[in-house]
Amino acid sequence: HVESTLSITVVGASGDLAKKKIFPALFALYYEDCLPKNFVVFGYARSKMTSEELRNMISKTLTCRIDKSANCKDKMDQFLKRCFYHSGQYDSEEHFSELDCKLKEKEVGKLSNRLFYLSIPPNIFVDVVRCASLRASSANGWTRVIVEKPFGRDSESSGELTRCLKQYLAEEQIFRIDHYLGKELVENLSVLRFSNLVFEPLWCRNYIRNVQLIFSEDFGTEGRGGYFNNYGIIRDIMQNHLLQILALFAMETPVSLDAEDIRNEKVKVLRSMRPLQLEDVVVGQYKGHSKGGKSYPAYIDDPTVPQDSLTPTFAAAALFINNARWDGVPFLMKAGKALHTKRAEIRVQFRHVPGNLYKRNFGTDLDKATNELVLRVQPDEAIYLKINNKVPGLGMRLDRSDLNLLYRARYTREIPDAYERLLLDAIEGERRLFIRSDELVAAWDLFTPLLNELEERKIAPELYPYGSRGPVGAHYLAAKHNVRWGDLSSED
Ligand code: NAP
Repeated sequence: HVESTLSITVVGASGDLAKKKIFPALFALYYEDCLPKNFVVFGYARSKMTSEELRNMISKTLTCRIDKSANCKDKMDQFLKRCFYHSGQYDSEEHFSELDCKLKEKEVGKLSNRLFYLSIPPNIFVDVVRCASLRASSANGWTRVIVEKPFGRDSESSGELTRCLKQYLAEEQIFRIDHYLGKELVENLSVLRFSNLVFEPLWCRNYIRNVQLIFSEDFGTEGRGGYFNNYGIIRDIMQNHLLQILALFAMETPVSLDAEDIRNEKVKVLRSMRPLQLEDVVVGQYKGHSKGGKSYPAYIDDPTVPQDSLTPTFAAAALFINNARWDGVPFLMKAGKALHTKRAEIRVQFRHVPGNLYKRNFGTDLDKATNELVLRVQPDEAIYLKINNKVPGLGMRLDRSDLNLLYRARYTREIPDAYERLLLDAIEGERRLFIRSDELVAAWDLFTPLLNELEERKIAPELYPYGSRGPVGAHYLAAKHNVRWGDLSSED
């Protein structure tokens, strides 16, 4: 057994994501004894800061999950002692050589493994990868790089980014993070399906009428529209998070749980998708309005957004998978900002019971009697199945009930943040939840023609009031495919 050190360098350590997510996730891993015995964390950014100042900054966002006692404070102090800072430019090989020296000083044992987390704007990804790989790679262990989206803004720019990264890194060194894949319920999707006999046999066009993937936020860009305006909701949420969930949901049974086997199946789904038509997409943008004496801003009121912006803050789309399992089944996606609620969920609506004996109990609206399986990814994680049930009593009355697995009622353990799982996987070399380059190509190939058409034809988004349920166009789109949005039914 060779003694080794793990060095984690957070590039862009002065930023928002680093503070809010990455350092707290690293601490949580340390707290749960998931980090190796010898590890060191370095922050790297241009901002001038001492290691002590970095420690002060991050100590404000660290939290203990279970035990808020003195032990927690000790653990924090021990963790912070292993955190250091190096200030440098992102395109300076010299500054990365200095980082290399500092890392070497801290690394004990014969072997060092190095993980770089790029928590920086995408225009400097390649500079950092070049400098880090040339000057600060591990001499004897592995060197891995975690990259955050956006991975380009269309097929071409994404391909270019991949080509540039691969000048300096092999595919197995690149960990493209999609933090939705690290969410507990998304991970559980395959467990639910492949380890329960009652679901997998129904997982096809014979029983499933439609699948809905819904993401909504109850706030707008609030002054941070600069980044968003160049991307829009389709690139920000649909092309990555929702499409990844769709691929995982719809894939065939993989040969094993091995990363390559799973990713092979996901790619097949993505490559079987019918090209997206403009008539199967609705785009929206929130407008300002007042309610209860309070006024809510429009997207274009954000000072970082141009007044004539056509960037969608909402989109709904109907997608289809051209394969034997899913032929004709609409996969409806909906994503939006400044809506009435904050949630992410997967809804599976099943077909009618053929020749339903209890038909008369539902009147003319048999639609309401179909079973629906809901996986609530966030907030308040839950899995519930809507069933028809006899109301207890002498008569024969039916109502809708839920078989409900509410996580906070069933499990006392707090659910780890997605970044914890993904960081741990990257450390352990587990690639299952990261995006392989051919998956990325297939995902962009699906959305790029649509995005180009929206932009070339300057399609104006349908305006919807801040805090509303989104544009009515989304209902028409669903109705065109014989679907009702499950999240808008009176039962939810
Ligand atoms: P950020 O705060 O804007 O940027 C991180 C750091 O990068 C900054 O502290 C700054 O450090 C440096 N930086 C900022 N703009 C720069 C520029 N134009 N040129 C060179 N360096 C610049 O970003 P973030 O919110 O932490 O997010 C980091 C990355 O993750 C981004 O690419 C973002 O798209 C992605 N992401 C963020 C979130 C989130 O929740 N925030 C979620 C998903 C993905 P110095 O000035 O000190 O060098």
